[in-house]
Amino acid sequence: MKKVMIIGAGGVGRVVAYKCAEQKDVFSEILLASRTKAKCDEIKEAIGDDRITTAAIDAMDKDALVSLIRKFNPEMVIHVALPYQDLVIMEACLEAGVHYLDTANYEPEDEAKFEYKWQWAYNEQFKQKNLMALLGCGFDPGVTSIFTAYADKHYFDEIHYLDIVDCNAGDHGHPFATNFNPEINIREVTQKGKYWENGQWVETEPHQFMKKLNYPEIGPKNSYLIYHEELESLVKNFPTIKRARFWMTFSDEYLTHLRVIQNIGMANIEPITYEGRQIVPIQFLKAVLPDPKSLGTNYKGWTSIGCRIRGIKDGKERTCYIYNNCSHEKAFEETGTQGVSYTTGVPAMIGAKMMVTGKWNGEGVFNVENFDPDPFMEELNSCGLPWEVKLDIDLEL
Ligand code: NDP
Repeated sequence: MKKVMIIGAGGVGRVVAYKCAEQKDVFSEILLASRTKAKCDEIKEAIGDDRITTAAIDAMDKDALVSLIRKFNPEMVIHVALPYQDLVIMEACLEAGVHYLDTANYEPEDEAKFEYKWQWAYNEQFKQKNLMALLGCGFDPGVTSIFTAYADKHYFDEIHYLDIVDCNAGDHGHPFATNFNPEINIREVTQKGKYWENGQWVETEPHQFMKKLNYPEIGPKNSYLIYHEELESLVKNFPTIKRARFWMTFSDEYLTHLRVIQNIGMANIEPITYEGRQIVPIQFLKAVLPDPKSLGTNYKGWTSIGCRIRGIKDGKERTCYIYNNCSHEKAFEETGTQGVSYTTGVPAMIGAKMMVTGKWNGEGVFNVENFDPDPFMEELNSCGLPWEVKLDIDLEL
């Protein structure tokens, strides 16, 4: 049994805390630390487990973080605050001598750019300290990469075409809201699209390509090609891939709001002066939008995220669709938050479980597809995110 420290008490942090607390044979004590201690206390109260303690921490303050980690002395840190803090938290883990896990790759605050290079650069340092850093262990990135590794291991000799399809068919009753941190979410979906084809990246205008795809138990949804961070590590780790793309569903209503937000400058990340104070428009927008955590109460419907893969097995072409459907209502009943936080927090806990039990172990900086997918896939089934596989079907792509 090992101690674990969770950083971040948002929707995802809440689910990670619930799920770690459930694993009584794996995690002996849990420290939930975040910028606002009251939010950690509220989660602790809701779970009602006295193995949880809480603390206030500014994760950008490396020295404070190192001393908090040393004081609690966990086996590892699960970082589910914001991607801006990835590098500082990785450095604090190196200094304090503990393992690291996150769910989103580092992004500089002043530039919306998703790349693993900053975090991969820590590989040697983690190796030298005999420590492990596991990057992108949410759903996407995370489970989508594990689905790909599982399909590669069990169903294909070579994967040639990979399409990751992410559908949120839930209805939260608000005209516009984001399902996770609005600042990170809007930065992600308004950037240019990008996909991998024949050994190079092809850039597209935002939402230039749309396909109507059918999702299991949901039906047809407009799905737009966007760039998503796991594509970068997947095409590196599965070099037989000729084309890799990522599709996400957006309703017309959502896209209209997004267009207006962009046109009036509210998605900008450069600071402006307002009444003598510097404010960042997208951060102000975040403050007036519904808190993603609050969406759960009336959220109905499903998320459906998976991988549609074409490749060869024993010299013959084959297709595979591997996916999970998650109910917003069930996620809320269990953890008091909606499906998007749930589908991120459950894999983060499972990744931590893989690490502390030694099922996944290594020295250096890793992506999830670097490890055996089988034990992780088993845990998904028993921890609330069961998956399905359909072979040799029409992938629509
Ligand atoms: P929220 O905005 O709900 O929560 C973020 C939490 O981090 C808040 O509690 C916030 O504190 C805390 N925080 C922010 N800055 C600091 C800081 N400097 N020091 C300490 N704590 C800080 O986000 P979500 O829970 O929705 O998302 C969490 C992470 O999960 C994000 O990185 C997101 O990108 C990632 N994610 C990954 C997905 C995947 O599938 N891989 C999908 C969805 C999300 P406060 O409450 O005081 O503001």
